[in-house]
Amino acid sequence: MRIGAHVDPADPLAEAAARRAEVVQFFLADPQGWKDPQAREDAAALRDSDIDVFIHAPYVINVATPNNRIRIPSRKLLVSHAHAAAAIGARALIVHGGHVNKGDDLATGIDNWRKTFAYAAESGGFVTQILIENTAGGDNACARRFDALARLWDVIGEFGVGFCLDTCHAHAGGEDLVDVVDRVKAITGRIDLIHANDSKDGFDSGRDRHDNLGSGNIDPDLVVAAIRAAGAPAVVETPGGVTGQSADIAYLRERLNG
Ligand SMILES: [Zn+2]
Repeated sequence: MRIGAHVDPADPLAEAAARRAEVVQFFLADPQGWKDPQAREDAAALRDSDIDVFIHAPYVINVATPNNRIRIPSRKLLVSHAHAAAAIGARALIVHGGHVNKGDDLATGIDNWRKTFAYAAESGGFVTQILIENTAGGDNACARRFDALARLWDVIGEFGVGFCLDTCHAHAGGEDLVDVVDRVKAITGRIDLIHANDSKDGFDSGRDRHDNLGSGNIDPDLVVAAIRAAGAPAVVETPGGVTGQSADIAYLRERLNG
């Protein structure tokens, strides 16, 4: 199982080496902004590297919302990120499931997801594999509770979309980590990436605060079991920089190989 970390985008290959990571994930643009990604000077180095590269889309993206002023730029930003991710040889582009607002019908959000793939298809489809990630909070999220996820996948599963399971988000979102991989796979048929994070907050808290493995509310055995059951690469999105993440990576590697 290949293990790595979410790192600073300035020099991801150096960050990977510092952590002995086999996988890196990073942002191609400000995660809180709407700017398209810029071409990277290290594109060829990233493409040629043995390190598996995953790109996380900006947090501002919400393709599900009925609000045109968020939804339309979200679609465009997702497409531009898919192109930029392809240019550096990224394995996939991870995007949060998004949400509708209080009082809105979840079905509208799910149909907006379908329209996102239809929009991308007009220009040849997403050029990088899209992975939808489960989220921790909100009562109207498309990918917090797995009953909503099942409704989403009924509509968009045909577009070849993949899934990223975040263990912190599942726990804080109110989905038990016991048998979580089986329950997700029953819906999506696949898990392409695990975000292996502990949670500072309790079960079903709805809060999204990651912690180092074994330091928070989640039994780390359940994180290890999820990676093993998924058979997918894992990325820690945990605090503590090189020291904290290296310890998390070493822990997972020892547990998974031991
Ligand atoms: Zn995550």
